[in-house]
Amino acid sequence: MKEKEISAILDSTGARQTGHFLLTSGRHSGEYMQCAKLFVNPKISEQLCSALAKKIKGLKVDCVVSPALGGILMGYELARALRCDNYFAERVDGVFALRRGFALKQGEKVIVAEDVITTGGSVKEVIELVRFQGAKVAGVAVIVDRSGGTIDFGIPLYSLWQTNIATYDKGSCPLCQTGLPLVKPGSRQ
Ligand SMILES: [Zn+2]
Repeated sequence: MKEKEISAILDSTGARQTGHFLLTSGRHSGEYMQCAKLFVNPKISEQLCSALAKKIKGLKVDCVVSPALGGILMGYELARALRCDNYFAERVDGVFALRRGFALKQGEKVIVAEDVITTGGSVKEVIELVRFQGAKVAGVAVIVDRSGGTIDFGIPLYSLWQTNIATYDKGSCPLCQTGLPLVKPGSRQ
C-alpha cells in the first residue's frame, strides 16, 4: 500500500483530525488521531491490516495479542490477515492480564498489535505479559506510530504510518493565540 493511499484513508475516515486539541498529557496540538475510525468500515480495516500483515508474513507468527480496548479490532483483523490466532489482554486491577480462558503456549511466536502508539506504554506492558507466559514476542505491529519512529521496544516495530505531531505548552501554543476553541478528544480521561 502506498503512503498516498494510507494518507487518503486517514483523512476520508476522519481518523486524522485537524483543529485545536487538548491531549491527555495536558499539551495542545493541531492534529489528532482517532484510530477507532479506521475500523468503522470493515473493508478499509481489512485493506490496512493486510498491508501491515504483508510486512510481517515472513515471521510466521502463531498468535496476535493486543491491549484492550484500542487494539482489539486491529488485533483481530491482523490475525485474520496472518491466518493465526488472536487474543486480547485487559486490565485487572490496573495490570494487563489474559482472561476468558485465553492462554499462550510455551515458545509460541507472538506479534503484539495496537492501532496507534504514542509512548507505547500499553504495548510494553503486553510484551511483558506475553514473555511472562513463556511465549516469544517476535515484534510489534501498529497502524499509526505517533512517535515518528522514536520508540524502541528492543524488538522490530512494524507500522503503516509514522507521524510526529507537534505539541505545544499551553503558554506557547500558537493555536490558542488564534482563538480556536480547545477540544478534548479521545476516550482516555
Ligand atoms: Zn492551544
